[in-house]
Amino acid sequence: MIPALSRLFFVACLAVIAAYISLYFLGSDWAIFTGITVLLMPLIYSYINLARLKQYIRTDTVENISLPSGYWEEVYFGLQRLIKGLKQRMRTIEEQHAHFIEAFQASPNGIVMLDDGDHIEWCNSIAERFFGLHFKRDALQRINFLIRRPEFIQYLIKRNFDEPLLLERMGPNGSLSLMLQAFPYGQNRHLLLVQNVTDLHKADAMRRDFVANVSHEMRTPITVLMGFLETVQSLDLEKSQQDQYFEMMMSQAQRMKSLVEDLLTLANLESNALPAATNEVKIKTLMALLKNDAEALSQGRHDFTFDVESNANLLGDEREILSAFSNLVSNAIRYTPDLGTINVIWNINSEGQGEFSVSDTGPGIASEHLSRLTERFYRVDRSRSRDTGGTGLGLAIVKHIASRHQAQLIIESIPGKGSTFILCFPGDRLST
Ligand code: ADP
Repeated sequence: MIPALSRLFFVACLAVIAAYISLYFLGSDWAIFTGITVLLMPLIYSYINLARLKQYIRTDTVENISLPSGYWEEVYFGLQRLIKGLKQRMRTIEEQHAHFIEAFQASPNGIVMLDDGDHIEWCNSIAERFFGLHFKRDALQRINFLIRRPEFIQYLIKRNFDEPLLLERMGPNGSLSLMLQAFPYGQNRHLLLVQNVTDLHKADAMRRDFVANVSHEMRTPITVLMGFLETVQSLDLEKSQQDQYFEMMMSQAQRMKSLVEDLLTLANLESNALPAATNEVKIKTLMALLKNDAEALSQGRHDFTFDVESNANLLGDEREILSAFSNLVSNAIRYTPDLGTINVIWNINSEGQGEFSVSDTGPGIASEHLSRLTERFYRVDRSRSRDTGGTGLGLAIVKHIASRHQAQLIIESIPGKGSTFILCFPGDRLST
């Protein structure tokens, strides 16, 4: 205030001096004119600067103004500092905002922010994919207009958000199971967190199926066994008849034993550490073992060839590899009718991978079954499998062992002609 007043005082003095000089040289009319002109000068100067300022503010270029001198220099300088500070703060806030958005976008869960009227304020791209939303299009829309599942609408109406809500058959092709929960924040706003629980659900369903299958597989031989026991106990049977019953009981007990053994093998495979790629498994020794077992199981009903076409050995767990190989060979024997041919080959293919293949001239498998053969308890012909002592777990075990050795199980089959099962091991699982 003081500098402003002293400036005004200075201008007034200047006007008086100018008026006096004019009065002395030019007369009284000119003295008034000169005095008024000097008084008006700062007003004109201020008006010019105001007009400049208005122009700069309109074009948002106040920061670039060339500073005038004097009082207006302070005004412009103050304004420039204020605007620079504001812009810097805006940039910081924008950066923080961008970081938050990036963090929310990086979340593996869907996130939707709802205002007090359940309108979408923001959602991340995962939520867009889960619910088929498009933020730019759907912003500020009520969420229950866009997710029209009755259970979700009820969830919003009841407003009891203590428990999560499970939505099934969601996602672009209805294949997702989503677990959703709303969390209140701010002033009556809600954060909707959505988790993809499809795999968890599948695993849960698989576990239930597995328990049901095992119970079913065990119940049949136990029922048969109990029936025989009751018969032997209650009837006075002849020795030869008794022997026959005991033999049948033995075969049922054997079936349960095989099932339990296969279940234990699977359980071990799931819990054991991955096989190291350092133990060398001698293929020639393995092939000799396989040949002996195969001939014992076939009892002369099939023709065999066992070819070791490469000296390369495998790196892995010997017991597991033997188990996988013998499962494939025993399947070929069990499913190939008498007089059929079974070829077992070990070689290195053109891509440097080790291939163990078992081909048979058995009944073959229709293509629609191929992708499901390695599922636990999946059988093409249930009674044929049981008659030959199958548990329905053999190929599941093979697949598991294969993946523990980074190998692939390839199944090729022509119905009526035969099948070939190939275990393909990557080059770094070979030793030469
Ligand atoms: P299983 O104990 O029933 O043989 P696997 O898991 O070993 O169980 O095999 C699954 C199913 O695959 C079998 O039930 C059978 O239908 C089919 N399969 C396996 N190997 C052969 C084969 N060499 N020829 C024809 N079918 C086969």
